[in-house]
Amino acid sequence: IQDLHFKYPNARELSIDAFNLTINEGEITTILGESGSGKSTLLRLIAGLEMPIKGKIMVGKDCMCSQLKFVQPEKRGIGMVFQDYALFPHMTLEENIKFGLLKWPRKEKQIRVKEVIDLVDLKGYEKRYPYELSGGQQQRVALARALAPRPKLLLFDEPFSNLDADLQIKIREELRVILKTAGVTSIFVTHDQDDAQALADKIVILRKGKIKEVGSPDKIFGTECDVSERLAVKPRV
Ligand code: ATP
Ligand code: MG
Repeated sequence: IQDLHFKYPNARELSIDAFNLTINEGEITTILGESGSGKSTLLRLIAGLEMPIKGKIMVGKDCMCSQLKFVQPEKRGIGMVFQDYALFPHMTLEENIKFGLLKWPRKEKQIRVKEVIDLVDLKGYEKRYPYELSGGQQQRVALARALAPRPKLLLFDEPFSNLDADLQIKIREELRVILKTAGVTSIFVTHDQDDAQALADKIVILRKGKIKEVGSPDKIFGTECDVSERLAVKPRV
C-alpha cells in the first residue's frame, strides 16, 4: 500500500491519510486502533469497496488500484470475514461454503469443500443449519467459506466481537493455526490488544488514519510504557 489517501464525500477530514504498508506473503498482520481510527475504512479500500483519492494498492505484482486503474472487488481475489458472520440461515454448513465456489466444476468443488471443512475441524457437521451450530462453530464456517476459493489475501474486521471471552481466546488460537496451515496472507482488524498480540506476526497501530507504530508483537508490547496510553486503545482488563 503506497501513499493511500481517502476521504468520505460528506466528511471534513481524511479517514486514511498518507498510509504506507508492506505485508509479506503468508504473514498475519493485525491493525490495532481506537474506534474511528480508520481500520474498517482501510479494509474497505483494500477490498475495493471504496476508491482512494490518491495512492496505490498492489497484491503481489498486480495493481488493484492507482490513479489509472481500479479493479472491481469480485476480481481482486480478496476474501473478507466480518463481525456478523453472515451465513445464509436457510443453507446447511456445506451449502454455505459451496456458495463461495459458484463457478467451480462440480468435482473440484466437492473436494475443496471437504478440504476446508477438515481444516476448520467441522467434519460431521456438514448437514447442519447455522442455528444448529454454536457461535464459535458458525465463526469457523464463515472462515471456511472465505478460505474455500483460495484468496490471495484474507481480511478480517473484528470477527470475534460477538463471542464471549473464553470462546474468543480459543478461536483466535485456532485461527492462527488454520491461517498458518493454509498459508494465507491476512489482515486482521481489532481494537483488542490481546487479539493483536496473540495472532500477529506484525502489528500496525493506526491513529486518525495514519500509522502510529509498526512492529512485531514483541516490539510493540515489549516496552515499559503501557501500550494503552501510547496508542489510545482500550486498556487491558
Ligand atoms: P471502529 O473500531 O469503531 O469500527 P474504525 O477504526 O473501523 O472504528 P472507520 O469505520 O474506518 O473506523 O471510520 C474512520 C473514520 O471515518 C471515522 O471518523 C468515521 O466517522 C468516518 N466514517 C466512517 N464511515 C463513514 C461514512 N460512510 N461517511 C462518512 N464518514 C465515515
Ligand atoms: Mg470498524
